[in-house]
Amino acid sequence: MASTDVAAEVKAQTTQVEEPAKVTRHQEVGHKSLLQSDALYQYILETSVYPREPEPLKELREVTAKHPWNLMTTSADEGQFLGLLLKLINAKNTMEIGVYTGYSLLSTALALPDDGKILAMDINRENYDLGLPMIEKAGVAHKIDFREGPALPLLDEMVKNEEMQGSFDFVFVDADKDNYLNYHRRLIDLVKVGGVIAYDNTLWNGSVVAPPDAPLRKYVRYYRDFVMELNKALAADPRIEISQIPVGDGVTLCRRNY
Ligand code: SAM
Ligand code: CA
Repeated sequence: MASTDVAAEVKAQTTQVEEPAKVTRHQEVGHKSLLQSDALYQYILETSVYPREPEPLKELREVTAKHPWNLMTTSADEGQFLGLLLKLINAKNTMEIGVYTGYSLLSTALALPDDGKILAMDINRENYDLGLPMIEKAGVAHKIDFREGPALPLLDEMVKNEEMQGSFDFVFVDADKDNYLNYHRRLIDLVKVGGVIAYDNTLWNGSVVAPPDAPLRKYVRYYRDFVMELNKALAADPRIEISQIPVGDGVTLCRRNY
């Protein structure tokens, strides 16, 4: 390519990048990812995620897809991200708040060593039972201690127990968004220094930037203020370092500093 052609190419590319986003793109609140197109997201899934997804996890994803509340499940790319993260930090003792059918639970259970543990909480055992056969098939059921019931009273009990303070390497929070800040107040004592708390859905279907008159679903509108309040509080909390990762519906990683 002649140098003038190169210059023209560079100019064309730059011009393209500087163009304002097309109005037709990403107008829809609730887009599954923050990527330029659905095709790009599909490319990630098909190239890097699905070929590496263990069979029982795939089965669990397919069973969940038929469930009426399937909107709640963790996406496969986020599951892969969480599994890798746990391996990177050598997590052994973890917690999950909000299990549903268990996609994130199984993704993380597979990433833990054989003697690793997950304390998993959900008010609904029925949905967990739906995924349990796949968890058993994956050979990781022994790592999971499932507790049926609201998470907050259980966290209150744990905070009182000195042995449990600073004992978790990782916590995944994916339940009632209006309680995230209440969870944070307790989890900061339960996660060890250097450990990680991951808050899921911190972009809340993109609604954190929706104009006040946007036609949001009732539950999206209701939880939006809580998510926005959490995001502000996490950003202002000196006890943690944070990064808001644009995977799934946004997951904010918080490393306990002290
Ligand atoms: N992490 C799950 C996955 O990968 O499929 C998705 C969890 S789903 C978004 C939220 C879950 O939180 C639901 O299963 C719901 O029953 C549970 N939940 C709601 N309120 C709760 C509470 N107060 N304590 C514990 N679990 C709760
Ligand atoms: Ca979630």
